[in-house]
Amino acid sequence: MLPVGAKIGILGGGQLGRMLCVAASRLGFKCHVYEPSRNPPAGDTSAILTTAPYTDITALERFARSVDVVTFEFENVPVEALEFIERIVKISPSRHALQISQDRLIEKKFLNDLGLETAPYFKVENRVELTNALKKIKFPAILKTRKFGYDGKGQIKLESEENVAETIKNFSGSDYILEGVVNFSKEISVIAARNFNGQIACFDPGENIHINGILDTTTVPCKLPISIITDAILLTSRILEDLDYVGVLGVELFVLDNKLIVNEIAPRVHNSGHWTQDGCVVDQFEQHIRAISGWSLGDGSRFLNVTMKNLIGNDILEVSKLIEEPSKSIHLYGKEEIRPNRKMGHVNLVSEKA
Ligand code: AMP
Repeated sequence: MLPVGAKIGILGGGQLGRMLCVAASRLGFKCHVYEPSRNPPAGDTSAILTTAPYTDITALERFARSVDVVTFEFENVPVEALEFIERIVKISPSRHALQISQDRLIEKKFLNDLGLETAPYFKVENRVELTNALKKIKFPAILKTRKFGYDGKGQIKLESEENVAETIKNFSGSDYILEGVVNFSKEISVIAARNFNGQIACFDPGENIHINGILDTTTVPCKLPISIITDAILLTSRILEDLDYVGVLGVELFVLDNKLIVNEIAPRVHNSGHWTQDGCVVDQFEQHIRAISGWSLGDGSRFLNVTMKNLIGNDILEVSKLIEEPSKSIHLYGKEEIRPNRKMGHVNLVSEKA
Protein backbone atom coordinates (compact mmCIF):
# COMPACT_ATOMS: atom_id res chain seq x y z
CA MET A 1 0.00 0.00 0.00
CA LEU A 2 1.52 3.32 -1.06
CA PRO A 3 1.78 5.83 1.75
CA VAL A 4 0.38 9.34 1.49
CA GLY A 5 3.09 11.44 -0.16
CA ALA A 6 4.17 8.66 -2.57
CA LYS A 7 4.81 9.52 -6.23
CA ILE A 8 2.67 8.29 -9.08
CA GLY A 9 4.00 8.30 -12.63
CA ILE A 10 1.50 8.81 -15.43
CA LEU A 11 2.34 8.08 -19.06
CA GLY A 12 0.33 10.52 -21.17
CA GLY A 13 -0.59 14.07 -20.31
CA GLY A 14 -4.04 14.51 -21.85
CA GLN A 15 -7.26 15.38 -20.06
CA LEU A 16 -7.47 11.95 -18.45
CA GLY A 17 -4.01 12.50 -16.97
CA ARG A 18 -5.05 15.97 -15.86
CA MET A 19 -8.02 14.60 -13.93
CA LEU A 20 -6.01 11.65 -12.53
CA CYS A 21 -3.53 14.17 -11.12
CA VAL A 22 -6.32 16.11 -9.40
CA ALA A 23 -7.66 12.91 -7.82
CA ALA A 24 -4.17 11.79 -6.78
CA SER A 25 -3.27 15.11 -5.20
CA ARG A 26 -6.54 15.08 -3.24
CA LEU A 27 -5.33 11.79 -1.74
CA GLY A 28 -1.96 13.31 -0.88
CA PHE A 29 0.07 11.80 -3.74
CA LYS A 30 2.36 13.66 -6.09
CA CYS A 31 2.19 13.00 -9.83
CA HIS A 32 4.95 12.94 -12.39
CA VAL A 33 3.52 13.10 -15.91
CA TYR A 34 5.47 11.93 -18.97
CA GLU A 35 4.19 13.36 -22.23
CA PRO A 36 5.90 13.91 -25.60
CA SER A 37 4.02 17.08 -26.60
CA ARG A 38 4.45 20.50 -25.04
CA ASN A 39 1.93 22.21 -22.73
CA PRO A 40 -0.26 19.16 -22.17
CA PRO A 41 -3.52 19.41 -20.17
CA ALA A 42 -1.94 17.44 -17.29
CA GLY A 43 0.94 19.90 -17.09
CA ASP A 44 -1.32 22.26 -15.11
CA THR A 45 -2.15 19.70 -12.43
CA SER A 46 0.97 17.54 -12.07
CA ALA A 47 3.81 18.19 -9.63
CA ILE A 48 6.46 17.22 -12.20
CA LEU A 49 6.24 17.13 -15.99
CA THR A 50 8.70 15.41 -18.31
CA THR A 51 8.49 16.42 -21.96
CA ALA A 52 10.24 13.73 -24.01
CA PRO A 53 9.40 11.13 -26.65
CA TYR A 54 8.43 7.62 -25.54
CA THR A 55 11.64 6.41 -27.21
CA ASP A 56 13.97 8.49 -25.02
CA ILE A 57 15.52 5.81 -22.80
CA THR A 58 17.34 8.29 -20.58
CA ALA A 59 14.19 10.30 -19.87
CA LEU A 60 12.15 7.11 -19.34
CA GLU A 61 14.69 5.82 -16.84
CA ARG A 62 14.77 9.11 -14.92
CA PHE A 63 10.96 9.11 -14.87
CA ALA A 64 10.72 5.48 -13.71
CA ARG A 65 13.27 6.01 -10.93
CA SER A 66 11.44 9.09 -9.65
CA VAL A 67 8.11 7.37 -8.89
CA ASP A 68 6.66 4.54 -6.78
CA VAL A 69 4.19 3.20 -9.35
CA VAL A 70 3.44 3.94 -13.01
CA THR A 71 0.12 4.03 -14.81
CA PHE A 72 -1.02 5.29 -18.21
CA GLU A 73 -3.86 7.40 -19.50
CA PHE A 74 -3.22 6.85 -23.19
CA GLU A 75 -3.66 3.55 -25.03
CA ASN A 76 -1.00 4.04 -27.65
CA VAL A 77 2.05 4.31 -25.43
CA PRO A 78 4.54 2.04 -27.23
CA VAL A 79 4.85 -1.29 -25.40
CA GLU A 80 8.64 -1.02 -25.66
CA ALA A 81 8.48 1.97 -23.30
CA LEU A 82 6.47 -0.10 -20.82
CA GLU A 83 8.88 -3.04 -21.14
CA PHE A 84 11.70 -0.72 -20.22
CA ILE A 85 9.91 0.95 -17.32
CA GLU A 86 8.63 -2.26 -15.75
CA ARG A 87 12.20 -3.41 -15.14
CA ILE A 88 12.46 -0.50 -12.72
CA VAL A 89 9.01 0.06 -11.25
CA LYS A 90 5.58 -1.61 -11.24
CA ILE A 91 3.08 -0.60 -13.92
CA SER A 92 -0.67 -0.93 -13.37
CA PRO A 93 -2.73 -1.90 -15.30
CA SER A 94 -0.36 -4.43 -16.87
CA ARG A 95 1.39 -4.20 -20.21
CA HIS A 96 -0.59 -7.28 -21.23
CA ALA A 97 -3.91 -5.42 -20.82
CA LEU A 98 -2.55 -2.49 -22.81
CA GLN A 99 -1.28 -4.72 -25.60
CA ILE A 100 -4.69 -6.36 -26.00
CA SER A 101 -6.44 -3.02 -26.33
CA GLN A 102 -3.89 -1.68 -28.82
CA ASP A 103 -4.86 -4.11 -31.55
CA ARG A 104 -8.52 -4.62 -32.50
CA LEU A 105 -7.82 -8.12 -33.83
CA ILE A 106 -6.11 -9.31 -30.64
CA GLU A 107 -8.77 -7.59 -28.56
CA LYS A 108 -11.66 -9.32 -30.36
CA LYS A 109 -9.96 -12.71 -30.12
CA PHE A 110 -9.36 -12.16 -26.40
CA LEU A 111 -13.04 -11.31 -25.88
CA ASN A 112 -14.27 -14.27 -27.95
CA ASP A 113 -11.95 -16.64 -26.05
CA LEU A 114 -13.63 -15.42 -22.87
CA GLY A 115 -16.96 -16.44 -24.37
CA LEU A 116 -18.05 -12.84 -25.04
CA GLU A 117 -19.74 -11.88 -28.27
CA THR A 118 -18.29 -9.24 -30.59
CA ALA A 119 -19.37 -7.94 -34.00
CA PRO A 120 -18.42 -10.43 -36.73
CA TYR A 121 -14.96 -9.60 -38.06
CA PHE A 122 -12.21 -10.73 -40.38
CA LYS A 123 -8.56 -9.83 -40.57
CA VAL A 124 -7.85 -7.86 -43.74
CA GLU A 125 -4.32 -7.26 -44.98
CA ASN A 126 -4.75 -7.04 -48.74
CA ARG A 127 -7.36 -6.58 -51.48
CA VAL A 128 -8.12 -10.26 -51.81
CA GLU A 129 -8.81 -10.59 -48.08
CA LEU A 130 -11.01 -7.48 -48.22
CA THR A 131 -13.06 -8.87 -51.12
CA ASN A 132 -13.44 -12.26 -49.39
CA ALA A 133 -14.33 -10.70 -46.05
CA LEU A 134 -17.01 -8.54 -47.71
CA LYS A 135 -18.61 -11.61 -49.25
CA LYS A 136 -19.02 -13.08 -45.78
CA ILE A 137 -19.96 -9.97 -43.81
CA LYS A 138 -22.14 -8.24 -46.41
CA PHE A 139 -23.18 -4.59 -46.33
CA PRO A 140 -23.01 -2.50 -44.31
CA ALA A 141 -19.55 -3.18 -42.91
CA ILE A 142 -16.81 -1.08 -41.35
CA LEU A 143 -13.17 -1.28 -42.32
CA LYS A 144 -11.10 -0.36 -39.26
CA THR A 145 -7.38 0.00 -38.75
CA ARG A 146 -6.22 -2.55 -36.19
CA LYS A 147 -4.13 0.02 -34.36
CA PHE A 148 -4.20 3.73 -33.46
CA GLY A 149 -7.90 4.22 -34.16
CA TYR A 150 -9.89 6.36 -31.74
CA ASP A 151 -12.98 8.59 -31.81
CA GLY A 152 -14.05 7.00 -35.09
CA LYS A 153 -10.68 7.72 -36.74
CA GLY A 154 -9.22 5.04 -38.98
CA GLN A 155 -12.65 3.73 -39.95
CA ILE A 156 -14.48 3.59 -43.29
CA LYS A 157 -18.09 2.50 -43.52
CA LEU A 158 -18.79 0.41 -46.60
CA GLU A 159 -22.43 0.52 -47.62
CA SER A 160 -22.42 -0.21 -51.33
CA GLU A 161 -20.41 -1.68 -54.19
CA GLU A 162 -19.44 1.89 -55.09
CA ASN A 163 -17.85 2.43 -51.64
CA VAL A 164 -15.99 -0.83 -52.06
CA ALA A 165 -14.68 -0.03 -55.53
CA GLU A 166 -13.39 3.30 -54.24
CA THR A 167 -11.89 1.75 -51.10
CA ILE A 168 -10.25 -1.12 -52.95
CA LYS A 169 -8.77 1.29 -55.49
CA ASN A 170 -7.04 3.19 -52.69
CA PHE A 171 -6.34 0.17 -50.51
CA SER A 172 -2.62 -0.26 -50.26
CA GLY A 173 -2.87 -3.16 -47.82
CA SER A 174 -2.01 -2.96 -44.15
CA ASP A 175 -3.35 -4.14 -40.81
CA TYR A 176 -7.13 -3.82 -40.83
CA ILE A 177 -10.22 -5.68 -39.76
CA LEU A 178 -13.53 -5.71 -41.54
CA GLU A 179 -16.35 -5.64 -39.03
CA GLY A 180 -20.07 -6.19 -39.48
CA VAL A 181 -22.28 -3.25 -38.49
CA VAL A 182 -24.27 -4.04 -35.36
CA ASN A 183 -27.81 -2.75 -35.56
CA PHE A 184 -27.84 -1.88 -31.88
CA SER A 185 -30.69 -0.33 -29.93
CA LYS A 186 -28.36 1.32 -27.43
CA GLU A 187 -24.70 1.79 -26.69
CA ILE A 188 -23.69 1.49 -23.06
CA SER A 189 -20.44 1.29 -21.17
CA VAL A 190 -19.34 -0.09 -17.87
CA ILE A 191 -16.57 1.54 -15.89
CA ALA A 192 -15.15 -0.71 -13.21
CA ALA A 193 -12.14 -0.91 -10.95
CA ARG A 194 -10.20 -3.81 -9.46
CA ASN A 195 -7.41 -3.62 -6.90
CA PHE A 196 -4.49 -5.90 -5.95
CA ASN A 197 -6.68 -7.86 -3.53
CA GLY A 198 -9.18 -8.66 -6.25
CA GLN A 199 -11.76 -6.25 -4.85
CA ILE A 200 -14.02 -5.03 -7.67
CA ALA A 201 -16.20 -1.92 -7.77
CA CYS A 202 -18.45 -1.19 -10.71
CA PHE A 203 -20.12 2.10 -11.51
CA ASP A 204 -23.65 2.11 -12.88
CA PRO A 205 -23.57 1.44 -16.63
CA GLY A 206 -24.10 4.63 -18.64
CA GLU A 207 -25.93 5.08 -21.93
CA ASN A 208 -23.77 6.64 -24.63
CA ILE A 209 -24.65 8.67 -27.69
CA HIS A 210 -21.92 9.03 -30.30
CA ILE A 211 -21.95 11.59 -33.08
CA ASN A 212 -19.59 10.89 -35.99
CA GLY A 213 -17.87 8.20 -33.92
CA ILE A 214 -17.15 10.62 -31.05
CA LEU A 215 -18.82 10.34 -27.67
CA ASP A 216 -21.34 13.16 -27.28
CA THR A 217 -23.25 12.28 -24.10
CA THR A 218 -23.35 9.65 -21.39
CA THR A 219 -26.49 9.37 -19.27
CA VAL A 220 -27.06 7.51 -16.02
CA PRO A 221 -29.17 5.66 -15.22
CA CYS A 222 -29.43 3.88 -18.55
CA LYS A 223 -32.93 2.71 -19.37
CA LEU A 224 -32.50 -1.04 -19.70
CA PRO A 225 -33.89 -4.12 -17.99
CA ILE A 226 -32.03 -5.00 -14.81
CA SER A 227 -31.06 -8.36 -16.33
CA ILE A 228 -29.05 -6.63 -19.07
CA ILE A 229 -27.44 -4.25 -16.59
CA THR A 230 -26.45 -7.20 -14.42
CA ASP A 231 -25.02 -9.06 -17.44
CA ALA A 232 -22.97 -5.99 -18.38
CA ILE A 233 -21.50 -5.81 -14.89
CA LEU A 234 -20.81 -9.54 -14.74
CA LEU A 235 -19.05 -9.66 -18.08
CA THR A 236 -16.91 -6.69 -17.08
CA SER A 237 -15.91 -8.51 -13.89
CA ARG A 238 -14.99 -11.52 -16.00
CA ILE A 239 -12.62 -9.40 -18.08
CA LEU A 240 -11.09 -7.84 -14.95
CA GLU A 241 -10.55 -11.25 -13.36
CA ASP A 242 -9.12 -12.85 -16.46
CA LEU A 243 -6.56 -10.07 -16.86
CA ASP A 244 -5.79 -10.02 -13.12
CA TYR A 245 -6.42 -6.36 -13.74
CA VAL A 246 -5.49 -3.52 -11.41
CA GLY A 247 -6.97 -0.07 -12.07
CA VAL A 248 -10.03 1.26 -13.86
CA LEU A 249 -11.23 -0.37 -17.07
CA GLY A 250 -13.89 0.84 -19.52
CA VAL A 251 -15.96 -1.65 -21.52
CA GLU A 252 -18.04 -0.37 -24.44
CA LEU A 253 -21.05 -2.48 -25.31
CA PHE A 254 -23.77 -2.61 -27.94
CA VAL A 255 -27.23 -3.72 -26.85
CA LEU A 256 -28.94 -5.81 -29.50
CA ASP A 257 -32.17 -7.75 -28.93
CA ASN A 258 -31.60 -7.89 -25.19
CA LYS A 259 -28.10 -9.27 -25.54
CA LEU A 260 -24.72 -7.59 -25.21
CA ILE A 261 -22.01 -7.34 -27.81
CA VAL A 262 -18.65 -6.03 -26.72
CA ASN A 263 -17.32 -3.25 -28.93
CA GLU A 264 -14.04 -2.54 -27.20
CA ILE A 265 -12.21 -2.31 -23.91
CA ALA A 266 -10.08 0.57 -22.67
CA PRO A 267 -7.50 -0.19 -19.96
CA ARG A 268 -7.79 3.23 -18.38
CA VAL A 269 -10.21 5.80 -17.07
CA HIS A 270 -12.77 6.50 -19.75
CA ASN A 271 -14.65 9.47 -21.19
CA SER A 272 -17.96 7.72 -20.55
CA GLY A 273 -17.03 7.59 -16.84
CA HIS A 274 -16.72 11.36 -16.40
CA TRP A 275 -20.26 11.51 -14.99
CA THR A 276 -18.91 9.82 -11.84
CA GLN A 277 -17.16 13.10 -10.90
CA ASP A 278 -20.50 14.60 -9.95
CA GLY A 279 -22.67 11.53 -9.40
CA CYS A 280 -20.65 9.45 -6.93
CA VAL A 281 -18.81 9.89 -3.66
CA VAL A 282 -15.69 8.33 -5.21
CA ASP A 283 -15.26 8.95 -8.94
CA GLN A 284 -13.42 6.89 -11.57
CA PHE A 285 -10.21 8.92 -11.21
CA GLU A 286 -9.97 8.43 -7.46
CA GLN A 287 -10.93 4.78 -7.86
CA HIS A 288 -8.06 4.29 -10.32
CA ILE A 289 -5.53 5.98 -8.05
CA ARG A 290 -6.75 3.93 -5.07
CA ALA A 291 -6.48 0.68 -7.05
CA ILE A 292 -2.96 1.23 -8.39
CA SER A 293 -1.79 2.45 -4.98
CA GLY A 294 -2.90 -0.75 -3.24
CA TRP A 295 -5.65 1.07 -1.37
CA SER A 296 -9.14 -0.25 -0.78
CA LEU A 297 -11.63 0.87 -3.39
CA GLY A 298 -14.11 3.58 -2.48
CA ASP A 299 -17.88 3.69 -2.65
CA GLY A 300 -18.81 4.27 -6.28
CA SER A 301 -22.55 4.11 -5.82
CA ARG A 302 -24.47 6.79 -7.64
CA PHE A 303 -26.45 9.38 -5.68
CA LEU A 304 -27.64 11.61 -8.55
CA ASN A 305 -28.85 11.25 -12.11
CA VAL A 306 -26.26 12.69 -14.49
CA THR A 307 -25.88 13.50 -18.14
CA MET A 308 -22.29 14.14 -19.17
CA LYS A 309 -21.92 16.21 -22.33
CA ASN A 310 -18.61 16.59 -24.08
CA LEU A 311 -17.53 20.06 -25.19
CA ILE A 312 -16.05 19.39 -28.60
CA GLY A 313 -14.28 21.97 -30.77
CA ASN A 314 -16.18 25.27 -30.77
CA ASP A 315 -18.57 24.07 -28.02
CA ILE A 316 -16.00 25.50 -25.64
CA LEU A 317 -16.98 29.00 -26.81
CA GLU A 318 -20.33 28.48 -25.03
CA VAL A 319 -18.72 28.31 -21.59
CA SER A 320 -19.88 31.78 -20.56
CA LYS A 321 -23.48 30.60 -21.13
CA LEU A 322 -22.92 27.31 -19.30
CA ILE A 323 -21.70 29.20 -16.26
CA GLU A 324 -25.19 30.67 -15.96
CA GLU A 325 -26.73 27.20 -15.56
CA PRO A 326 -26.19 26.23 -11.92
CA SER A 327 -26.95 22.50 -12.22
CA LYS A 328 -24.13 22.02 -14.72
CA SER A 329 -20.74 21.20 -13.32
CA ILE A 330 -18.02 22.38 -15.71
CA HIS A 331 -14.75 20.54 -16.35
CA LEU A 332 -12.31 22.16 -18.79
CA TYR A 333 -9.07 20.69 -20.08
CA GLY A 334 -7.00 23.85 -20.51
CA LYS A 335 -6.28 23.22 -24.19
CA GLU A 336 -5.11 26.38 -25.87
CA GLU A 337 -5.99 25.55 -29.45
CA ILE A 338 -9.56 24.81 -30.52
CA ARG A 339 -9.71 22.21 -33.30
CA PRO A 340 -12.72 20.50 -34.87
CA ASN A 341 -13.50 17.21 -33.06
CA ARG A 342 -11.05 18.04 -30.28
CA LYS A 343 -12.33 17.28 -26.78
CA MET A 344 -12.01 20.59 -24.92
CA GLY A 345 -13.98 19.82 -21.77
CA HIS A 346 -17.25 18.37 -20.53
CA VAL A 347 -20.20 19.34 -18.39
CA ASN A 348 -22.16 17.17 -16.02
CA LEU A 349 -25.84 18.04 -15.75
CA VAL A 350 -27.14 16.60 -12.49
CA SER A 351 -30.66 16.04 -11.19
CA GLU A 352 -32.13 14.38 -8.11
CA LYS A 353 -32.27 10.60 -8.28
CA ALA A 354 -35.95 9.69 -8.35
P1 AMP B 1 -14.92 2.49 -32.07
O1 AMP B 1 -13.77 3.40 -32.37
O2 AMP B 1 -14.75 1.12 -32.59
O3 AMP B 1 -15.31 2.52 -30.62
O4 AMP B 1 -16.16 3.13 -32.83
C1 AMP B 1 -16.72 4.38 -32.49
C2 AMP B 1 -18.22 4.32 -32.62
O5 AMP B 1 -18.58 3.93 -33.97
C3 AMP B 1 -18.91 3.31 -31.73
O6 AMP B 1 -19.11 3.77 -30.43
C4 AMP B 1 -20.21 3.09 -32.50
O7 AMP B 1 -21.10 4.17 -32.32
C5 AMP B 1 -19.74 3.10 -33.94
N1 AMP B 1 -19.37 1.71 -34.32
C6 AMP B 1 -18.15 1.16 -34.30
N2 AMP B 1 -18.17 -0.13 -34.68
C7 AMP B 1 -19.45 -0.43 -34.95
C8 AMP B 1 -20.14 -1.61 -35.40
N3 AMP B 1 -19.50 -2.74 -35.66
N4 AMP B 1 -21.47 -1.53 -35.56
C9 AMP B 1 -22.15 -0.39 -35.32
N5 AMP B 1 -21.57 0.76 -34.91
C10 AMP B 1 -20.24 0.75 -34.73
